[in-house]
Amino acid sequence: MAHAGLATAAPLVPPRPTLAKLRAAAAGCTACPLYKTGTQTVFGEGLAGARAVFLGEQPGDSEDRLGRPFVGPAGKLLDRALLEAGIDRKLVYVTNAVKHFKWEPRGKRRIHAKPNWSELAACRPWLDAELAVVKPRVLVCLGATAAQSLLGRDFRVTRRRGEWIESELAAHVTATVHPSSILRQRDDESRHAAMEAFVADLALVATVL
Ligand code: SF4
Repeated sequence: MAHAGLATAAPLVPPRPTLAKLRAAAAGCTACPLYKTGTQTVFGEGLAGARAVFLGEQPGDSEDRLGRPFVGPAGKLLDRALLEAGIDRKLVYVTNAVKHFKWEPRGKRRIHAKPNWSELAACRPWLDAELAVVKPRVLVCLGATAAQSLLGRDFRVTRRRGEWIESELAAHVTATVHPSSILRQRDDESRHAAMEAFVADLALVATVL
């Protein structure tokens, strides 16, 4: 059923939600204009009892096509980094700050476009509901958009990555880079260094799981 014209997704969140109910309800969400650019809602994935929630910005091209979060190149890199940091993937729930892919055409390619504040605000009830169901011990923001939408517009990942941040969202909250930023490094040496720093941030997360 379509729900056009809503300022946020809040009225669509079902009472006594489970992840399955939330996923089903979010599939029909049209609370912001991104439902027009994305192929489908890409809801979070993982167990309700997951110990950690990893939050990205939005689904990418592969995620949009497959309908699953973190399954493209950045997701594969995240999986590798979790393994290297000693984090069991089964303990992790992955999701995004907005659940539809926002993109602009460049030739035949679909290029990622940053969601704006009203789109982030419109989608926030889905994230809040996911956090309420999963109740993670640790919340990890991946990249500036996720971090700023949860921790404030002034939050700088470059300065505060790998720190524990005071927050009511979970017992332990931190931010690090988005894995896609590692893929965008200009050469192998920078990519290797960026990956090492990312794994070090995740190793900190592993200490409190
Ligand atoms: S991005 Fe979020 S709020 Fe906007 S239509 Fe998709 S699910 Fe709804």
